[in-house]
Amino acid sequence: MNIEKIKEKAENLGFVCRENEPMKGHTTFRIGGPAELFIECNDLNKIDLLLKCVRDEGCPLFILGKGSNLLVSDEGIKGVVIYICDDTLMVDGERIVAAAGCKLSSLCIAARESCLSGLEFAFGIPGTVGGAVYMNAGAYGGEVKQIITSCTSITRDGEIKVRSSKELELGYRTSCFKKNGEIILSATFELKSDEKCEIGARMDDFLGRRKDKQPLEYPSAGSTFKRPEGYFAGALIEQSGLKGYSVGGAEVSVKHAGFVINKDNATCQDVLGLIKHIQSTVKTNFNVDLETEVIFVE
Ligand SMILES: Cc1cc2nc3c(=O)[nH]c(=O)nc-3n(C[C@H](O)[C@H](O)[C@H](O)COP(=O)(O)OP(=O)(O)OC[C@H]3O[C@@H](n4cnc5c(N)ncnc54)[C@H](O)[C@@H]3O)c2cc1C
Repeated sequence: MNIEKIKEKAENLGFVCRENEPMKGHTTFRIGGPAELFIECNDLNKIDLLLKCVRDEGCPLFILGKGSNLLVSDEGIKGVVIYICDDTLMVDGERIVAAAGCKLSSLCIAARESCLSGLEFAFGIPGTVGGAVYMNAGAYGGEVKQIITSCTSITRDGEIKVRSSKELELGYRTSCFKKNGEIILSATFELKSDEKCEIGARMDDFLGRRKDKQPLEYPSAGSTFKRPEGYFAGALIEQSGLKGYSVGGAEVSVKHAGFVINKDNATCQDVLGLIKHIQSTVKTNFNVDLETEVIFVE
């Protein structure tokens, strides 16, 4: 694999590239060693040419949004990381078409300003449209599945696919993209007209609840674990007496036990050690297996 060749290609396409880029600067956990080659893709119309080059060189590839659901290894990421930052957005009647790199917050604000309701739940989720579709992000009874009508993606071989909402296999924090490895290019959302002030009030309410309940003052990747059937991960962890429990610089948040926070220069190893301890304690106490929602990348 020839990293220099990929870098040259990416630069010719007009993308900014950096070698050995520390991933802690690109994750909300503020954790992660260097990416061998970090490419900022701000024009998804040209990604097919970049993918071809990456494929021809047989180079491992990781697709990055805002890094808000990731735990990146201290050793970093081998191969190429393509950071999707094309943030094109178009409002068309009650529909919004957004490029994968569009921030959810920008999408929510565009919806509100266009008097369109349906995205209120997403206000405060710190990711991109691509990451939100990949994860079927959701909160407060809403999820991407309820509002997405179609999604355009590209296979690693360069074939463009357009899927309807039903074909996306959206479930609890999952989509078909977890299996097929395609790169999400854009998504279309169908919303409903409403009063701007009503939409704004609901967004403010959800954001207020987040600020009250979540440890937003510390770096994290949101909820560390998925909700186990019939339980709440945070409650099981709290009832296990683990609030404030730490490994190195990683700590179970005192404010919300469902969040592992980077309290003090935590390493990935610290977080993994803490996750293991939480899982085994909860298993012993409640016979419940906690599955991570956070995605580990190396
Ligand atoms: C404080 C905080 C609060 C949060 N609250 C919530 C919440 O309420 N609800 C919720 O669901 N999540 C929540 N999250 C988690 C996270 O914000 C979401 O999962 C978000 O959708 C991830 O988007 P991202 O762009 O950051 O993706 P990343 O973290 O960069 O990537 C996540 C996964 O998506 C893949 N991916 C990203 N973009 C693409 C693309 N274009 N094509 C293909 N694959 C792609 C990546 O490869 C990776 O596997 C929270 C996180 C934090 C830090």
